[in-house]
Amino acid sequence: MTAPRPILVTGGAGFIGSHACKQLAAAGYLPITFDNLSRGHRRAVRWGPLIVGDIRDSAALECAIAEYRPEAILHFAALAYVGESVADPSPYYSHNVAGTLAILDAARGAGIDQLVFSSSCATYGVPDTLPVSETAPQRPVSPYGRTKLFCEQIIQDYAAAYGLRYVILRYFNASGCDPDGDLGEWHTPETHLVPRILMAANGIIPSVEIFGSDHATPDGTCVRDFIHVTDLAHAHVLALDYMSSGGKSLAVNIGSGQGVSVRDILDAVSRNTGRPVPTEMRPRRQGDPPILYADPALARRTLGFSARLSNINVILGTAAAAFASPAATGAAEGRGWQPTPFHADRSGITAKLEP
Ligand code: UDP
Repeated sequence: MTAPRPILVTGGAGFIGSHACKQLAAAGYLPITFDNLSRGHRRAVRWGPLIVGDIRDSAALECAIAEYRPEAILHFAALAYVGESVADPSPYYSHNVAGTLAILDAARGAGIDQLVFSSSCATYGVPDTLPVSETAPQRPVSPYGRTKLFCEQIIQDYAAAYGLRYVILRYFNASGCDPDGDLGEWHTPETHLVPRILMAANGIIPSVEIFGSDHATPDGTCVRDFIHVTDLAHAHVLALDYMSSGGKSLAVNIGSGQGVSVRDILDAVSRNTGRPVPTEMRPRRQGDPPILYADPALARRTLGFSARLSNINVILGTAAAAFASPAATGAAEGRGWQPTPFHADRSGITAKLEP
């Protein structure tokens, strides 16, 4: 048996990073999580060692790299709330941009020449055409989106000058949870749509706010491309494989290619529970493009990526199951609530994900 190949995973204790660590381990890698635990969770780090540190701390990064000698870096660690980035951009530029620079310099110093970077569809802003392809102009409308775009540009400059190879993954809306129930979406505070709707359906919050019903969309609510986090996690394994086999640097969308509205999700949950989800109408949220969904063709062609779990029933079913699990309801989060049984639809979970 060959030893697992070490990969440094910044943000490996977070929602997407932890799901990726699980898949890395299944694919023969050793995920070494580097995370400051400001938004991630110690209990989400289950498939390799955890180093508690801040990515802006170059000495801590160098130390971790010297100890584990990773062959590549998966760089997830970032602040990622659009609304928060508008209200308080300073930590976003610091963690996301200065943090990425520290990672790039540490990688360069140690001769690590492969990077997978977590970028975002937020770099596109309000697209002129749909679905959004990678050649669409990148004109972000939030500080968060701008931090991701700046990082993409810095990475490209480092690649041109220093021989770094990269795969930039532009995520659409990560949602759902590990189908085996090992991991949940444990954001604090929770601002994302799918968990907020499930929280309202379960009486954890009195209602879910709907940010705008007057958008230029078929039902007036925003349309997004909800990609199951397990599909998204798998894209990282494919990206590593792609670079290992000599693939050229690449920036690529990771989405399902399907547009689903906020209203569609509310309706799906109401149908499932047999009760309307309590809602509260609010004005549009600053920085929200009305419609975003991916053209996933380049990811298919280059990485062999396809979204297998990204239909809304599987997303809701796995998210609801994680909500109902002891890990999600237990003392760790201090919630102590009893969820209303959600009829978790596992029928779509048929595809076995090969490592
Ligand atoms: N949204 C909403 N109510 C909420 C959370 C989100 O109406 O409580 C909307 C939000 O305006 C956006 C979509 O749901 O149109 C997805 O938002 P989310 O924060 O989940 O992800 P984002 O698209 O910002 O990455």
